[in-house]
Amino acid sequence: MELKKYVRTVEDYPIEGISFKDITTLLKEPTAFKDVVDQISEYCQGKGITKIVSLESRGFIVGGAVAYCVNAGFVPIRKKGKLPSLVINESYELEYGVDSIEMHVDALTEDDVVLIHDDLLATGGTALAALNLVKQMNVKKIYFSFICDLTFIQTEKKIELANYETHSVIQY
Ligand code: 5GP
Repeated sequence: MELKKYVRTVEDYPIEGISFKDITTLLKEPTAFKDVVDQISEYCQGKGITKIVSLESRGFIVGGAVAYCVNAGFVPIRKKGKLPSLVINESYELEYGVDSIEMHVDALTEDDVVLIHDDLLATGGTALAALNLVKQMNVKKIYFSFICDLTFIQTEKKIELANYETHSVIQY
């Protein structure tokens, strides 16, 4: 299935000059949504993945479905101040602005094999911040998955992420 055609590009959102990839138009199509979840679940096969770690909020949609499909647990990474118990925190730069994310300190153990999932990889800042949180837990192995990878954006952060096995369903 040609999935790219389901992603809507919105110019100048959320600020002027940004060409935003809107995945809600993909998610609302039952066969497209299923295809994305199936492809990522397939990527997980044979890796022994025990936890899907996803990023608020668009990452939760497909991340949760994949966790269900591959019999893994689900771990949310949320914006600062949203998680109720003891957290670890990481600040990072966005394509537009600065943000801070958190994960519960007891969310992962040294026995976990983790897939970090988000809807989209742009500069890699968010994914690298998530990696820095997960690495603190000394898990066995870390993989990445994204629905969309903006491969035309090349950054130092992406070079660092290239040390990890990564899967994306749609590339730009
Ligand atoms: P990065 O940190 O790689 O620069 O940006 C990726 C993060 O910002 C992801 O969490 C993603 O949800 C959000 N993001 C940035 N640009 C876009 C976009 O064009 N479309 C969508 N859906 N999310 C974006």
